Amino acid sequence: MSNAEPDYEVVVVGGGINGAGIARDAALRGLSVLLLEKNDFGSGTSSWSSRLIHGGLRYLEHAEIRLVFESLRERRRLRQLAPHLVKRLRLNIPIYEQSRRSKLIVRLGMIAYDLLSIGKNVPRHKMLSRDELIEAEPGINQEGLLGAAQYYDAQITFAERLVLENIIGAQEAGADVRNYCPAIGINVSQGIVQSIHYLKQGSAQETEVTTSLVINAAGPWVDRVLATVNREIPRFMGGTKGSHIVVGRFESAPGSAFYIEAAADGRPFFIIPWNGQYLIGTTDIRYYGDPADVVASKEEIRYLLDETNRVFPGAKLTVQDIHFAYAGVRPLPRREKGPESAITRKHIIKKHRRVAKGLVSIIGGKLTTYRNLAEQAVDLAVRVQGGAAGTCETRTMPLPGATGIEAARKRLDALNCLSESGVDRLLGIYGGRASRIAGLAVNESHLIRTLDEEGTVLAAEVVFALRHEFAVNLTDIVHRRLMTGLSADQGLGISEEIAAIAARESNWNNSEKEQQLAELGQYNARLKSPVH
Ligand SMILES: Cc1cc2nc3c(=O)[nH]c(=O)nc-3n(C[C@H](O)[C@H](O)[C@H](O)COP(=O)(O)OP(=O)(O)OC[C@H]3O[C@@H](n4cnc5c(N)ncnc54)[C@H](O)[C@@H]3O)c2cc1C
Repeated sequence: MSNAEPDYEVVVVGGGINGAGIARDAALRGLSVLLLEKNDFGSGTSSWSSRLIHGGLRYLEHAEIRLVFESLRERRRLRQLAPHLVKRLRLNIPIYEQSRRSKLIVRLGMIAYDLLSIGKNVPRHKMLSRDELIEAEPGINQEGLLGAAQYYDAQITFAERLVLENIIGAQEAGADVRNYCPAIGINVSQGIVQSIHYLKQGSAQETEVTTSLVINAAGPWVDRVLATVNREIPRFMGGTKGSHIVVGRFESAPGSAFYIEAAADGRPFFIIPWNGQYLIGTTDIRYYGDPADVVASKEEIRYLLDETNRVFPGAKLTVQDIHFAYAGVRPLPRREKGPESAITRKHIIKKHRRVAKGLVSIIGGKLTTYRNLAEQAVDLAVRVQGGAAGTCETRTMPLPGATGIEAARKRLDALNCLSESGVDRLLGIYGGRASRIAGLAVNESHLIRTLDEEGTVLAAEVVFALRHEFAVNLTDIVHRRLMTGLSADQGLGISEEIAAIAARESNWNNSEKEQQLAELGQYNARLKSPVH
C-alpha cells in the first residue's frame, strides 16, 4: 500500500437507514465519507417495515431490557429531531379470556414500558375496562373481551424519507453519497483494507477508490458483501421475512392502532391506521433466498386477513380488499435453532479482525435505533483505526427537514394552488425543506400546479426530486420521494403526468419515458402480486 492519503477515510456500503445514519454521523465528525448504494437509497428492508418508532413492547418478553430502554430513548430523540416524520401513535392491546397474556401480565409490561421511557414525550399507559374499549372502538370483537391496555408509541409514515433525510444530511456535512453504485469488491492486503471497487451509476465501468475503513451496512446483503473479500468468511446473517398487507377503511375499522395476539400462534401483530389506509402485519419466518426476491406469500396474507377478521368481525376482509402487500427481510444475526421471535433484535457491530483491519459489518438494527447504532459504529470504526472518535453531533442536531416548518407552510400557502390537505401532505413529507420546493415553483412558474384533483401533489416536487433528492428514475420519484406510490391506487392516476415532467427535466425521449413507465408498472405489479 502506498503512503498516500486514501481517497476516503470511510466508505459505507449500503444506503438503508443504517448506512445513511452512519454516513451522516461520520461526515458530521469531519471524516471524509463515501456512501455506495447499489439500488436507490432506502429501497431495501428500510422500506418494508411496520413503520413504527417504538420501544418494542414484545422484547420485554425476551428480557431485552437494554434494547427497550435504548429504543425508547431514541424514540424520544427522533420525535424531537424529526417531528415532521415521526408522530405520536395510540395503540390498544385487547385482552380476552382466552389470551395467552393475562391482564396482569399486560399491565406489568405496560408499567415496565412506562418506567423505561424516562423523559418521554408521549402520555403514560391506561388500562381500559371492557365497556370503555367497546365505547371507544365499537367494531371490536366483544366475545370473551375483558378489557384493554392503551399506550403510546410513534409512527413514521414514510420511513423512506427518514433514510433520505439522513442521506441529505450526510451530503450537507460533506459526504459523497451515490445511489445505483454497487460495491463489487473490497481489496485487502497484508490483513488491512486497501480499497473498494464499485460500478459507476448507469454504466458497467468499474472504479476503485482507496480507503482503510469499510463499514458494511448492506442489511440482509451483509454476507454477500463480505464474500467479495473472502468466500471463506462464515455467515453472519440469519434474516427472517416479515410481510404486511395494506387495505382501505373497512366496516368496523378501528380509529386507533391495535396490537393483537394472533389466535393461530399467539404472536402479536399490528393493525395500524397508516397513510389513509390500514397497515396490517407482520409475520416472522426464516428466509434463505435473495432478499431482493422476497414477496408476501398467500399463506401469510391469509393469516393476516383471518386474524383481522377475527378481531374486527364486521371487516370481512378478503384478498380483493388488499391495495397492496409487501415483504422485507430483517437483517438479524444468524440463529438456526429456536423460534424466530426469540432471535435477538439487538444490533451487533462486528469487527472482522481476522479477515482485515478496517472492515466492520452491521448485523441487525432497527429503524428506531439507527441513530444510536450509527454513533456506536462510527466510535468503534474510528478507534479501530487508532484515531479519536470526536463528538457525535446527531444526538441533538435536527434532521434537515425538521426546521423552518411554519415558514414552509406560509410559502406553500402563498402558491395558492395547494389544498389544505396538500399543504399538510408536503410538510409531512419534506418538513421545512418544502420551502425550497415552493421557491423552485416560484422561479419556474409552470411548476405551480397540482397534478391531482384533490390539489395535493405539486408539479415542482417532481423536478425537486430529480435535482435535489438524488432520484434517478420514475420509480424512485413515485415510491421514495413523492410517496404517491403508497397511496390506495398506487398513484396510477398521476403517474403519466409525473413521467411527462420527469422526461422534460431529464431529457428522456419518448421511448425512454415509456420504458420508465413500464418499469414503474412492474414495480407496482410486484407489490400487488401474489394478491390478485
Ligand atoms: C417486516 C419488518 C418489520 C419491521 N418493523 C420495524 C418497525 O416497526 N420499527 C423498526 O424500528 N424497525 C422495524 N424493522 C426493522 C428495520 O426495518 C430494519 O432492521 C432496517 O430497516 C434495516 O436497515 P439497514 O440499513 O440495515 O438495511 P437495508 O434497508 O436493507 O439497507 C441495506 C442497503 O444495502 C444495499 N446494498 C446491498 N448490497 C450492496 C452492495 N454490494 N453495494 C452497495 N449497496 C448494497 C441495499 O440495496 C440496501 O439498500 C422491521 C423489519 C421488517 C423486515
